[in-house]
Amino acid sequence: MTVAPHFQFQDGVLHAEDVALEQLAQEHGTPLYVYSRQALRDAWEAYRIASEGRDVLICYGMKANSNLAVLDEFRKLGSGFDIVSGGELARVLAIGGDPSRIVFSGVGKQVWEMQAALNAGVKCFNVESEAELLRLAEVADQCGKVAPVSLRVNPDVDAHTHPYISTGLKENKFGIAIENALTVYQRAMSFPSLRVVGVDCHIGSQITEVSPYLDALDKLIALIKQLAAHGIQLKHMDLGGGIGIRYTDETPLTPKQLLDEVFLALQAHELTHLQIVLEPGRSLVGNAGVLLTRVEYLKHTEARNFAIVDAAMNDLIRPTLYDAWHSVEPVTPRSGGQPAPSYDIVGPICESGDWLAKDRQLDLQHGDLLAIMSAGAYAFTMSSQYNSRPRAAEVMVDGAKATVVRPREALDSLFDTESVLTD
Ligand SMILES: *Cc1c(COP(=O)(O)O)cnc(C)c1O
Repeated sequence: MTVAPHFQFQDGVLHAEDVALEQLAQEHGTPLYVYSRQALRDAWEAYRIASEGRDVLICYGMKANSNLAVLDEFRKLGSGFDIVSGGELARVLAIGGDPSRIVFSGVGKQVWEMQAALNAGVKCFNVESEAELLRLAEVADQCGKVAPVSLRVNPDVDAHTHPYISTGLKENKFGIAIENALTVYQRAMSFPSLRVVGVDCHIGSQITEVSPYLDALDKLIALIKQLAAHGIQLKHMDLGGGIGIRYTDETPLTPKQLLDEVFLALQAHELTHLQIVLEPGRSLVGNAGVLLTRVEYLKHTEARNFAIVDAAMNDLIRPTLYDAWHSVEPVTPRSGGQPAPSYDIVGPICESGDWLAKDRQLDLQHGDLLAIMSAGAYAFTMSSQYNSRPRAAEVMVDGAKATVVRPREALDSLFDTESVLTD
């Protein structure tokens, strides 16, 4: 068994659903991102079941994986979208997504992005500072629109996750300190070009326990009551994304665990009129993808053994950025007798930080194909062309069928919009 249910061994060869990964690598080359459509559907199903009979809107946190094929799958399943840029808005509109199911997050919204979102008619702006609120009021006024507003508050709770993906602590740049929220809400109420509709928080990512959410929920409920006492009625409460996935042996909380607790609290506080919004990213796509890479060279030094592969930090930056752990599976493991040596899996990029995994017991030869597991989230979307490496192709598998949903970038696309000076 691997960590990802739709990537399993059949007759000793790792498959994506019913397609052998070796075959995909031969047809499309490596490095290659491979996604499972059924894994997307199953991840969605967990949220659908948890939402049944409840007023819940799931807005896929699309920065995790914004390929149009992934977005379109979630659109068809009924998802809304959590966007953080004008570029993401353009992607949702390109697949015919419903703007009234879009929430717009992010600390640095520019004027053109606000205009585009107002013209599209998004469900709400998750406003992260007083300065942003003032700008939004002005932009909406100039567009002759009324902007729906939810304040992203910073509840100052510890999500017990990596510091780089923890967002709900006082020292983080995100949101409005919860103790200042009432003042900012009152300010928002004073603008005719703004309509206050909700409250929002997003406390971090790869969260595995329910307790940080409950800490945030308590604080949000207290705020909602305080606002009501001042005549400010909200329509929805957005608890953000953040539910973790299994990279190795984690057993993260489930959407149902979270929503059961949330709705118990809403009943206890007579707040059942509130719509609940969630913005899951990683938990919808993380285990729906792998990154295939081939071993180019084995290098044995005095200090370590290196497997130099054709994928690199430009394809998957999480290990070096967050010290993240991804499982590495040989696609066709050999049943060797002697104990396998320990390898660092590294890329060809000229940086010591260019590593994908460290200290893995693997029986390797050059030419072997490896699957870096759980690469459906924050892999392609964080990729770059560093070292002038064209971005890898993305393939979506559905049963026994595989479709290229983004081709490998051509070499000349690396520079075909650049120019040299003429004098
Ligand atoms: C990144 C992000 C999400 C998605 O987070 P996951 O941990 O991938 O679920 C949701 N909301 C906001 C505001 C984000 O920045």
